[in-house]
Amino acid sequence: MRLVRSNIASLEPYSTARDEYKGNLGILLDANENPFGGGLNRYPSTTLRDSLVAKLAEIKGVLPGQLFLGNGSDECIDLCYRVFCRPGKDNAVMISPSYGMYKVCADINDVEARQVKLGKDFSLPVEDLLAASDNNSRLLFICSPNNPTANSFPESQIRTLLDEFPGIVVLDEAYADFSARGSLKKLLEEYPRLIILQTLSKAWGMAGLRLGMALADSAVVRLFNRVRYPYNIGTDTLQLALELLPKSYVESKVSIIVKERERVRAALAEIPTIREVLPSDANFFLIRTDCPRCLYNFLLSRGIIVRDRSNTPLCGPALRLTIGNPGENDKLIKAITEYDSIQSTIH
Ligand SMILES: *Cc1c(COP(=O)(O)O)cnc(C)c1O
Repeated sequence: MRLVRSNIASLEPYSTARDEYKGNLGILLDANENPFGGGLNRYPSTTLRDSLVAKLAEIKGVLPGQLFLGNGSDECIDLCYRVFCRPGKDNAVMISPSYGMYKVCADINDVEARQVKLGKDFSLPVEDLLAASDNNSRLLFICSPNNPTANSFPESQIRTLLDEFPGIVVLDEAYADFSARGSLKKLLEEYPRLIILQTLSKAWGMAGLRLGMALADSAVVRLFNRVRYPYNIGTDTLQLALELLPKSYVESKVSIIVKERERVRAALAEIPTIREVLPSDANFFLIRTDCPRCLYNFLLSRGIIVRDRSNTPLCGPALRLTIGNPGENDKLIKAITEYDSIQSTIH
């Protein structure tokens, strides 16, 4: 692949004891482990990792070779830079506002981050993104549904970018399970330069486990596996994920969250102090009000913590609200109603 850094293409990866001998049986004197202990004294087994990869690939409808398992999607984002971008030379193009890690990882890897503003209506600036790209543009980050704007971008526009952007297109689908359209992973068949990021942190309700995925061409997955830390996922995490996966999606109640999202949006739309309630394809949405900080502090005084997005380009003056459980959402609506009545008494 022409886009891969040459030092990565020619990398001789570290070969672990568990790579060289994959079994668990026998007297293991190969890895300088401590022989005492109930299991966690051993390095994670490759077989266990492979089982989780196989399970997730089955769920996602891809081949195991097309799925990379990372320590959260954040690891996958960092690997995109380490595999494809020459520090000090290459650049990454990204939409703004969007998820902060794309730029942080660019900065850490000494790669220029070219941030391109969304349209005023949060539309995808296809022409501007292409105009910002040059021969050293190796990555294009698109988050859909986008954090923090909560909107999805049309498939046709993503296809245009895949056709015309000269590097790797990274489509972050952390919130796709909350959207009506769902994932665009079918595009992987057509576009070997597409990497789709998904995570167990949101719809699957397992943010504490730290597991994220890159769905991609098998050549990309092989590269990621050569560059990642040899044991990037611990034994307990692998075991817990295998145990919890069969029912965690159902128990994370995505459909209830989507229903609650529309209920809370409708309730807040009735409150005069809330000037605007933005639409959402995710498990959060933006609201606009004259003094977001005042509302933020008021909610804090009621024990409710939200995210102030006033300083985010195009968003402000806005707060970002995550959908909680029905009881929590009721308390949010009640608190904002109370804030509104205080406001109307003052003015
Ligand atoms: C929350 C989130 C993620 C998830 O990151 P993990 O490291 O998998 O927890 C990825 N992308 C976006 C846009 C997010 O908001």
